[in-house]
Amino acid sequence: MKEELRKLKDEIKRLRELAYKDELTALYNRRGFSEEAKKFLKEIVVFKKDPERRESFSIKNFSIIVFDIDNFKKFNDAYGHQAGDEVLKKVSRIMQDSVRDIDLAARWGGEEMVLGLVGANENDAFNIADSIRKRVMHTDLVWKRKKLHVTVSGGVAGFDKVDTFDDLFRLADKALYKAKQDGRNMVVRSQDLGKRKKV
Ligand code: GH3
Ligand code: MG
Ligand code: MG
Repeated sequence: MKEELRKLKDEIKRLRELAYKDELTALYNRRGFSEEAKKFLKEIVVFKKDPERRESFSIKNFSIIVFDIDNFKKFNDAYGHQAGDEVLKKVSRIMQDSVRDIDLAARWGGEEMVLGLVGANENDAFNIADSIRKRVMHTDLVWKRKKLHVTVSGGVAGFDKVDTFDDLFRLADKALYKAKQDGRNMVVRSQDLGKRKKV
C-alpha cells in the first residue's frame, strides 16, 4: 500500500511538471506561471482593500519583467535552430539563477520569458531586469568553436498600478514594446511609458 501511494505521488508530480513546466528550459510554462502568480496577487488584492491591516500581510507587492530575445529570427537564420535552442536554455538559466526561490520564472512562449518578483516594486524589478540584461549581453555561447552573443529587451510593471494579472501583463508588454522601438538591449518601466526618449 505504501509503495502504491509513493508511486501515485510520483505520478502526480510528473503530471504536474508536464502541465506546468516548459520542456526545453525547465522554467514554468504560461499556465504554471499565471497560476502561481495569481496566488500571490490574490493576497495583495486583499491587502490593497485593507491597508490598515498592513502588518498582517507578508506580501505587499509583486512585479513582473517580460523579456524577449532581440533579433532572434536573424540568429536562427545565421546559426541554425539548434544553436537557437542552446541560447534559449542559457538565457533561461541566467534568469532562473538571477532570482530567489520564491520568485517565478517562465518561458511564456517562443523566445519570450517572464519573471515574477515577489515583494518587489517596479524600481526593484527594473534594477534586477537591467542586471539580467547586462549578464545576458556579456555571456558567451560557444557553438561550433564560435563565440555567439544575444541581447534581450525587457518591460517591467508593478502590481501597485493595476488590479488584475492580465492588466499587469499588458502593462509590462507595452513597456517591452517601447524597449524594442527605442533600439533593443534595454529595459523600460511602465512608469516610463508616454515619456519621450532621451536624446
Ligand atoms: P525582435 O527583436 O523584434 O524580438 O525580433 P525577433 O527576430 O526576435 O522577433 P520575431 O518575433 O520576428 O522572431 C522570433 C523568432 O524566435 C522566430 C523563431 O524562429 C524564434 N523562435 C521561437 N521559438 C523558438 C525555439 O523554440 N527555438 C528556436 N531556436 N527559435 C525559436
Ligand atoms: Mg518575440
Ligand atoms: Mg524577439
